[in-house]
Amino acid sequence: MDDPVSLSALQHFVFCPRQCALIHVEGVWADNSQTARGHQTHERAHGGGTEVRDGVRTLRALPLVSRQHGLAGVADVVELLPDGSPRPVEYKSGKAKPRLADEVQLCAQALCLEEMFGADIPEGFIYHVASRGRREVAFTLELRGAVLDARDGVRALLRGGVLPAPAADDRCRLCSLYDECEPFAPRDFPAGYDPFSTRMDGGS
Ligand code: SF4
Repeated sequence: MDDPVSLSALQHFVFCPRQCALIHVEGVWADNSQTARGHQTHERAHGGGTEVRDGVRTLRALPLVSRQHGLAGVADVVELLPDGSPRPVEYKSGKAKPRLADEVQLCAQALCLEEMFGADIPEGFIYHVASRGRREVAFTLELRGAVLDARDGVRALLRGGVLPAPAADDRCRLCSLYDECEPFAPRDFPAGYDPFSTRMDGGS
């Protein structure tokens, strides 16, 4: 059986497969201001312990696993409603990431929680620290399918061990691995092309 895919790898993969490979295949990591803020946010959210308010019990840093779907990770916050049914809450320090990366990560948490609690979870929440607002994310069939597609994509990356081509688009401005990735560096010269040659005819 395959090892479980980490929930953070799903988020990295959906954001950019090359970022996922750099982190999870090549072991590269670099912080920028956004990821540094993200660590602080998660450390606060992962402070541990439980609290109860208005009948809702809040669990922090809850380990998650789904044997059925091959997923594992840690939830920032899981709220247990008065009827005992869980709702995942993911804390984010920055703006919403493109391509539903945060939503896929949250929905993956829900798939784990459904298996662990034997419950149906129709929605969860993303809490944006800067605006102190939380938005609801519906766990539609499409989003659930996107989780499993991302899981398969991560597995293929881990098996293949090949670095995908750079996205080289707006995502790169948000990416902490910009310097390591060099998304706009010249690459893929035609076979036999010598970028340092001064010959004009390309002959030998
Ligand atoms: S810099 Fe761009 S291409 Fe490179 S990992 Fe980041 S998002 Fe992907």
